[in-house]
Amino acid sequence: MTFDHGNGPIGSAGAHFVLVPMMAQGHTIPMTDMARLLAEHGAQVSFITTPVNASRLAGFAADVETAGLPVQLVELRFPTGEFGLPDGCENIDMIESKGLVVSFMEACAALREPLMAHLRQQQRSPPSCIISDMMHWWTGDIARELGIPRLTFSGCCGFSSLVRYIISHNKVLENVTDENELITIPGFPTQLELIKAKCPGSLFIPGFEKIREKMYEEELRCDGVIINSFEELETLYTESLEQVTRKKVWTVGPMCLCHRDSNTMATRGNKASMDEAQCLQWLDSMKPGSVIFVSFGSLASTTPQQLVELGLGLEASNKPFIWVIKAGGKFPEVEEWLADGFEERVKDRGMIIRGWAPQVMILWHQAIGGFVTHCGWNSTIEGICAGVPMITWPHFAEQFLNEKLVVDVLKTGLEVGVKGVTQWGNEQQEVMVTRDAVEKAVYTLMGEGEAAQELRMRAKDYAIKARRAFGEEGSSYNNVRLLIQEMGNKTNACG
Ligand code: UDP
Repeated sequence: MTFDHGNGPIGSAGAHFVLVPMMAQGHTIPMTDMARLLAEHGAQVSFITTPVNASRLAGFAADVETAGLPVQLVELRFPTGEFGLPDGCENIDMIESKGLVVSFMEACAALREPLMAHLRQQQRSPPSCIISDMMHWWTGDIARELGIPRLTFSGCCGFSSLVRYIISHNKVLENVTDENELITIPGFPTQLELIKAKCPGSLFIPGFEKIREKMYEEELRCDGVIINSFEELETLYTESLEQVTRKKVWTVGPMCLCHRDSNTMATRGNKASMDEAQCLQWLDSMKPGSVIFVSFGSLASTTPQQLVELGLGLEASNKPFIWVIKAGGKFPEVEEWLADGFEERVKDRGMIIRGWAPQVMILWHQAIGGFVTHCGWNSTIEGICAGVPMITWPHFAEQFLNEKLVVDVLKTGLEVGVKGVTQWGNEQQEVMVTRDAVEKAVYTLMGEGEAAQELRMRAKDYAIKARRAFGEEGSSYNNVRLLIQEMGNKTNACG
């Protein structure tokens, strides 16, 4: 069954995009930005979701409705029970054990029939194009049946997408047994080496291999790739991606720049777990560029010992900070430690946010002068737009590649010095980064040394370039228009 929300029936003219995000914050959030962006440029959008995810998207639905944008949320029932998933487990951040990942992916694939049925009913305004998460390989069948293009979206940048493509299609890791073996990425446009454990695709989940194969097979059949980045940031890598995949690569970002006021920033992804006005007031009271923002995204599960070590490093650095902690019910010992003196000791210069933070709203405030990030691509590009230098603290997946891009290519950040992988669902108990390393990195980044000044200067420069690319007649702006035109023309030619 489907429930339509939003702005009433979609009209008949122009391009109609069907957006199918993976249900994980780091994948869904940029798709909500994409929906807004396409609609602002005149296209119609159907945004596919499920009941639990739709409730998180209530702020987004209200925002697009207020703005009068033709975005329709289409809610499909998620078949948890049929696949042995707990009731309501409709997002990757709700999966409690790695063993359920495959069931979750199978439940996603079972959305094929209801989605197909919904799209077939859209006779007044048939879909022109599906933009779906790369993990939703099964949407390829729908696109072929409807005779429309499927573009993939993985939420990654061009740099890491290229590495992943080379590794998977050349089977680079196949015979490497040692997790610490240094791998040189063959055919990469610049010299790139990293150990196997830090390469994308090395996460092992029993039963996931078959799904990964389907994803890669469908990737070869898709009609193009959407990247949340901009040409001027990583031209060498996006051009190379286009060459090796022989697919059109559409750079349309940074899509987070579609947020122009703090109201829509505050509701992005989820309802904030604190009072936004109070947070802004606190930031307003701080000197420009004086606060360091610490956040590890929506999935990284940092161990209690590591969180304590990080907190002690922040305390020792003596700099003002905002620290987002998601330990919650999972690690009550962290809560105990915070209450047992830490919060009191830092109360004049530290704000702790438990749960969901309005990240973009905070990052883009003038008081923020640095960002300690786990290097998820969304956080990285949001940091680039903020024009602040970063301290890189990758945990898993392509985050180590984003670290390379920031530190070695863009030269807008410095590594905190993570040696090993904190694998999702299989976290190490040991401390990966000491309090001294945190203190030193924060002290250096927020200080007045020459290296820090240069990082800051370059970061500001990229933020200007990002805004230029996204703004009127910029490269991403023009790409969005071309994309809409191309898909609209295809629809008109068929109709
Ligand atoms: N985010 C947020 N508040 C939080 C945590 C995350 O707004 O408390 C947003 C963040 O701005 C980003 C996304 O969630 O847009 C996380 O995506 P990213 O790729 O950085 O990391 P992931 O969560 O996928 O590891």
